[in-house]
Amino acid sequence: MTGRNTVQRTIIEDELRRLANHPTADEVYEAVHAAHPSIGRATVYRTLGRLSDEGAIGRVRINNGADRFDHQAFAHYHVRCTICGRVDDVMIPVLDGVDEAAARASGYQITSHSLQFDGVCPMCRERAATTA
Ligand SMILES: [Zn+2]
Ligand SMILES: [Zn+2]
Repeated sequence: MTGRNTVQRTIIEDELRRLANHPTADEVYEAVHAAHPSIGRATVYRTLGRLSDEGAIGRVRINNGADRFDHQAFAHYHVRCTICGRVDDVMIPVLDGVDEAAARASGYQITSHSLQFDGVCPMCRERAATTA
């Protein structure tokens, strides 16, 4: 990897950490590009893909929505607000034994599972309460 790539990679990782709350690739690009106009959309997309393939960052696949990126690469669950679309962490213990159960039931070799909760976030709940 060249020095230029390493610098871009560090910038993109730093921006992802700063944005914190599961941005889309577009949101990462907007933030990176605002601070570093020489870094283009394709570079940001490619770098995010490479970092998530390597396991350095997380990629959260959202049902009916754009993938989100996560500076926290360890296994954890997410909840998505059905009103404003924000995605938050759900820090409950990762379900133990479901991969083995799914393997037995399906005959697949299971490599991972994902679980998306849907709900209404505290801010949207408050907004609904005050406008009701
Ligand atoms: Zn919301
Ligand atoms: Zn997360």
